[in-house]
Amino acid sequence: MLETLSYINSQFPVFATVMVFIFGAIVGSFLNVCIYRIPKDLSVVRPGSSCACGSAIAWYHNIPIVSWCLLRGRSTCCREWFSIRYPVVEFLTASLFAYAWWVHPPIVATIGMLYLSFLICSTFIDLDHMIIPDRFSIGGMILGVLISFLFPSLHGLQPAGLASSMHSALIAISGVLVGSGLVYWIAVLGEVVFRKPAMGEGDVKFVGFIGAFCGWQGAVFAMFGGALIGSILLLPLIIVGRIVHRNKKASQKNIDSMNTEQSMEDQALAFDAQVPFGPMLAVAALIYFLGFNHAVDTYLKNASDLLCSALPLIQ
Ligand SMILES: [Zn+2]
Repeated sequence: MLETLSYINSQFPVFATVMVFIFGAIVGSFLNVCIYRIPKDLSVVRPGSSCACGSAIAWYHNIPIVSWCLLRGRSTCCREWFSIRYPVVEFLTASLFAYAWWVHPPIVATIGMLYLSFLICSTFIDLDHMIIPDRFSIGGMILGVLISFLFPSLHGLQPAGLASSMHSALIAISGVLVGSGLVYWIAVLGEVVFRKPAMGEGDVKFVGFIGAFCGWQGAVFAMFGGALIGSILLLPLIIVGRIVHRNKKASQKNIDSMNTEQSMEDQALAFDAQVPFGPMLAVAALIYFLGFNHAVDTYLKNASDLLCSALPLIQ
């Protein structure tokens, strides 16, 4: 089947990319169901999609991206608003699938679609519920090692029998261990320094999953890239949060003279503690997988070479 896909891709690249985009939109529609139902322990298969009023949604009103736009975000039964997030997740999945198809050989792109689906589900569930379900993190980890064994080309190896399969599985396992170990110790250190939990157990397992698909370099990049993205995105949020609190404090000053600087600091910290780290990790993991991998791998290799050449000088 992959040969057929490769053939179609080489002969009709635009057609293939459009088909992958449509496939991605359909998968995105299913991911919406997963994001909504999995944290509530509901089946993702039955029942079919329904409106908030309980009426079933007809298939022709459930076409990814298109239906939402045609109906302008409202249901046909009771004119209830549907969240803009549904078409956004569908469009995001479709675009990422098409982009993965564009930058990777068909086999890596196909595995990538599974990896991207796990990242998208985990991100939105973490945003909604501040958890990453084990079936995505631990399940994804096991799946990543298994897929690495079956398809060594995921890690850029030539498929050549058992040796390359074992090598590929070892790359995945070292990715799991380095990724989860790194986040675990950063979390422990962070808790000692900042006296509040910075990252949860969910993040430890989640970076392990990223390592299984991307190797240890991808896991390291997800951690530090995620922290960087987090601080770029979070800094404005924290500043806005503090300004809001300061204004609130100013308006309350006349009513409550006991409102001290310390309590404002506490509120600001509590505000900042409410931010899930999973989405930042996922964005960095996405950037790594979709084209930043060569640059990161080269950088990490040069850094380790430099370290190795410097070691004899110290002795
Ligand atoms: Zn309705």
